[in-house]
Amino acid sequence: MHETWGGLSGAFTGFAMVAAWPFRGLGPKARAQVSCMRARRLCAAPPLPEWSALGFSYYPTKTMIRYNWTGSAWDAGELTTDFHVNIHGLSNVLHYGQGLFEGLKAFHCKDGKVRIFNSSANAARMQSGSRRLAMPEVPTALFNEAVDRVVRDNIDYVPPYGIGGALYIRPFLFGHGCKLGLGAAPEYSFCTITAPVGAYYKGNLEAVDALVVEDYDRAAPRGVGGIKAAGNYAPDTLPSQDAKSMGYPVCLYLDAKEQAYVEEFSTSNFIGITADGTLVTPTSPSILPSCTKQVVLNVARELQMKVEERPVPYSELSSFKEVAACGTAVVLTPVSSITRGGEVLKYPSFDGIARLYNAITAIQCGEAEDKYGLTRVVGEKAHA
Ligand code: PLP
Repeated sequence: MHETWGGLSGAFTGFAMVAAWPFRGLGPKARAQVSCMRARRLCAAPPLPEWSALGFSYYPTKTMIRYNWTGSAWDAGELTTDFHVNIHGLSNVLHYGQGLFEGLKAFHCKDGKVRIFNSSANAARMQSGSRRLAMPEVPTALFNEAVDRVVRDNIDYVPPYGIGGALYIRPFLFGHGCKLGLGAAPEYSFCTITAPVGAYYKGNLEAVDALVVEDYDRAAPRGVGGIKAAGNYAPDTLPSQDAKSMGYPVCLYLDAKEQAYVEEFSTSNFIGITADGTLVTPTSPSILPSCTKQVVLNVARELQMKVEERPVPYSELSSFKEVAACGTAVVLTPVSSITRGGEVLKYPSFDGIARLYNAITAIQCGEAEDKYGLTRVVGEKAHA
């Protein structure tokens, strides 16, 4: 059972005072429903989605979890049906961008168990972001507890084994409380919301076309590209919109200083495979360290592939045989072409990417042994 039906009591009492007229002639149950609907807070768990129609867009679940920082420690946290976060209008996160988020997934596995994938890596990345943005850290044990509690409470929304979906998990940490001048926020909250998802791009191993962003940079040298700061993403909205309108679902960013080295895609890391089968991935302090990529590199080594992590000049891309975007949401999505101005590089095959993709998704859904101890069982549900 969830711990708080925040929508019911809060919405009813709040609304009853300012808008009594819609309740005339209604019984208490109907009044509560009207009140909840008007306050846009869900009183009943949303129905389960049509699994086969899922893409990477929001579908509501039953609860989210919220922990508050007391000034010296995190509180015990609470599950709530109210997905709204009521914060002061002068909150740091709204003005100065003091906010971090994460993305990870839970999978319904072959044996019926629901497993969280690689969450300690996300916890560590959020901690590194906290240090850089002067926010309280969420210890790994608390991060994992939040993820486990919210996934357990929303376990019905984990897409069934075999359809290629997952329960996407979105932890976020933000500074709030009234503060006018620049400085650390007086209050902090750490929340986690989940949503059942299907594929991010076209799905499974369908390849996508990428466009190199030439007019804008993603992350400055010595800036915050290496952490998952909320503020890193708004500047990509316009280039991504422009690229999509030109038929490119993915943007590729180069280094901001010289525009000579490959950095990463808007929301995923870059992976290339050379003609001799070497996996190459760029290093740079302004690239977000992908949690998925660390798993990909381990699996690649296990598959006897040579792995090189090093700066990758853009000029080298013409010699690559395969290219892929790598991250939680996209898993490993093959990139079929990269366009920069008038030049188009084509990558028609993706055999190496497919081998890696199959090996990783097999670990995620419990079809292959989890040799690295990446997964954690949080519950069980019957096969559909
Ligand atoms: N790079 C950026 C900019 C991202 O937003 C993400 C997604 O979080 C990634 C890379 C991939 O990271 P992960 O594999 O941890 O999802």
